[in-house]
Amino acid sequence: MRAEQIQHEVREVLLSEDEIRGRLAEMARDIERDYHERTPLLVGVLKGAVFVMTDLARSLRIPVEMDWMAVSSYGSGTKSTGVVRILKDLDTDLTDRHVLIVEDIIDSGLTLTWLKQNLESRGAASVEICTLLRKPSRLKSNVFVRYIGFDVPNEFVVGYGLDYDERYRNLNDVVVLQPEVFGGEATDEPVEPARRVLRP
Ligand code: 5GP
Ligand code: MG
Ligand code: MG
Repeated sequence: MRAEQIQHEVREVLLSEDEIRGRLAEMARDIERDYHERTPLLVGVLKGAVFVMTDLARSLRIPVEMDWMAVSSYGSGTKSTGVVRILKDLDTDLTDRHVLIVEDIIDSGLTLTWLKQNLESRGAASVEICTLLRKPSRLKSNVFVRYIGFDVPNEFVVGYGLDYDERYRNLNDVVVLQPEVFGGEATDEPVEPARRVLRP
């Protein structure tokens, strides 16, 4: 589904499908360089990271394995609860594995802080994090994220896997919705642009 098809619900297109694919390809080059001698296990965090995972994995020119976890940190709304629960666990034994967690967005970082520690405690040789989006000003944790696609403003974003109440995941682009969608007041305040995060 394209943003134009739900134009009345979209306040701003933050990232087009092409921009996302282009950035994921750049991130894939970084990941290939770091993992060329060790097959990483990509751990996708359901459900939001499904599209990041499939596009990133197919961009990679090295062998990888893929597994999935589902954890809950948000309910159907837009606020973090800070509580993490495993809804679906991995099938893979992590002993001596090089794990790369693949995420859609890091907001407070609470989910990832917990997840990284959890996977490390299973005997993984390394656990790194790759996320398409980051909201830097809201970060409440100092968890290190090695691969970051874009910094986005402190707006609730949907699309490319990200949902609002399970909707909008199949939107090709990442967008900010009109406040009316959440029962809010209309606004014509401009939204800050997303910015590529260059590797440190
Ligand atoms: P954190 O624990 O970093 O605060 O939140 C992580 C999870 O919250 C993300 O994986 C995502 O599922 C959800 N989340 C955080 N910010 C947003 C957002 O702007 N839009 C959507 N759709 N989900 C978000
Ligand atoms: Mg997520
Ligand atoms: Mg969600």
